[in-house]
Amino acid sequence: MKIAILPGDGIGPEIVAQAVNVLNVLGESFEMETAPVGGAGYAAHGHPLPEATLTLAKQADAILLGAVGDWKYDTLERALRPEQAILGLRKHLNLFANLRPAILYPELAGASTLKPEIVSGLDILIIRELTGDVYFGQPRGVRIATDGAFIGEREGFDTMRYAETEIRRIAHVAFQAAQKRDKRLTSVDKANVLETFQFWKDIVTEVHQEYPDVALDHMYIDNASMQLIRAPKKFDVIVTGNMFGDILSDAAAMLTGSIGMLPSASLDANNKGLYEPSHGSAPDIAGKGIANPLATILSAAMMLRFTLAKPEQADRIETAVKKVLAQGLRTPDIYEPGTTKVGTEEMGNAVVRALT
Ligand code: NAD
Repeated sequence: MKIAILPGDGIGPEIVAQAVNVLNVLGESFEMETAPVGGAGYAAHGHPLPEATLTLAKQADAILLGAVGDWKYDTLERALRPEQAILGLRKHLNLFANLRPAILYPELAGASTLKPEIVSGLDILIIRELTGDVYFGQPRGVRIATDGAFIGEREGFDTMRYAETEIRRIAHVAFQAAQKRDKRLTSVDKANVLETFQFWKDIVTEVHQEYPDVALDHMYIDNASMQLIRAPKKFDVIVTGNMFGDILSDAAAMLTGSIGMLPSASLDANNKGLYEPSHGSAPDIAGKGIANPLATILSAAMMLRFTLAKPEQADRIETAVKKVLAQGLRTPDIYEPGTTKVGTEEMGNAVVRALT
């Protein structure tokens, strides 16, 4: 089995190195090949998603990515910015389903900004559609307005759109995920205002007929944001579009104490996947050796479960992570008085020790 390792920018190389160490002690014979992506891709080959990196990603069975992005590339034209690499990989590999579990480990209940009684025991799964919506819709750009209240002025515009197939396939992923959990699915939309999301709601309701064992409810994005903070444990699986999912999943990250704890999987129709932490490249702490590697290590566990069909190895990693948390080891983002502050490498080494 071949894994493409794409460390990327900022803290990416630091956290990916720890996940690779973990994969190396599992006793499996993975072939791992590393390639530059994001700002590192631009620096090496003049493009955030160099041809050779894309070819490797296509050939590999799974992809483990750190993060992309650095402020120093902010002045580049949009097509050359690091973030385009992620959008390109999602599009080229047709990774339309983004799975983000938000689990609150009991040891971190105090690290959440919410009261422990609101969040302890939290275990929800956010499924975000990843290749459609206003993030990809054409046309888009800046133009001179020819209608509306500001004719003749410059205006920015984007296009929100979802095809029936796109909604159906993500709805199937969500219903099937709910079937394996508590059998409750909340579809989040803005059907009261947006045509695209009335259509979304109608199609999800149709697909529901194939999954009578799953309880479906619909919620507007504004209310869903509120409920996620007010009573997050009421949710089981949430499915939503690209933009709403982007925002909701970051909010969910905070419930778990730190975005540094949150893994993610982006899957195609055959469960080939790109695995990455839910956070970005954190340029503010890059190179300081203090980034939390656990989201990346847990992403590697998801890779073993969903793409590499090694669920027992995924369980081993998740158990090892629980063990180091129980030992009281904490990177600064999840540190509380009474626990032991460690850096990226120490945390990674502790997980490796817990596995061997
Ligand atoms: P970010 O997620 O990188 O950082 C937000 C905050 O969380 C920062 O304070 C950071 O220090 C902290 N943080 C993030 N990961 C952490 C970790 N593992 N351990 C400890 N603390 C952590 O988001 P941002 O600052 O908005 O974006 C920075 C760059 O990352 C930008 O260039 C952005 O475009 C990019 N980005 C990339 C991805 C991706 O690669 N998929 C996702 C989001 C943002």
